[in-house]
Amino acid sequence: MNYHKYYPVDVVNGEGTRCTLFVSGCEHQCRGCYNQSTWSPSSGKRYSHELEEQIIADLLDSRIKRKGLSLSGGDPLHPKNLDAILQLVTRVKKECQGKDIWMWTGYTLEQLDSKQKQIVDMVDVLVDGKFDQERADPSLVWRGSSNQIIHRFK
Ligand code: SF4
Repeated sequence: MNYHKYYPVDVVNGEGTRCTLFVSGCEHQCRGCYNQSTWSPSSGKRYSHELEEQIIADLLDSRIKRKGLSLSGGDPLHPKNLDAILQLVTRVKKECQGKDIWMWTGYTLEQLDSKQKQIVDMVDVLVDGKFDQERADPSLVWRGSSNQIIHRFK
């Protein structure tokens, strides 16, 4: 997996103070996408074990309390990202008790295959669906267009 940006302290992608990772790779090609530079899975930098350790340490850091981890992109559920994302969310749920996970994906909940579902089973809030320029609305919170659904699982 590659990634574009990691913000150890972020207050704009999900509720509360969070760690946010923007991964590379997206196959949805939504018209009006603001993140076209992330579409290629080989764009950005290589995600590493060191970065995974850093994310876990940041979530556990008691000096700046984070509510949880946000995963966006690109698409965290792109086929090339599944192994690394599965490992990351499994570790967060196991090692960072009480921290929530938010995820943005261009797939709808109904479109997910079994491996993607395995990941989403550990996600607290999923914002799903492609960005639809016809239904774009800047007044919406946590999503760009009204077709996208905020699923609060927990
Ligand atoms: S799913 Fe998101 S990143 Fe992917 S093309 Fe659509 S708007 Fe862009």
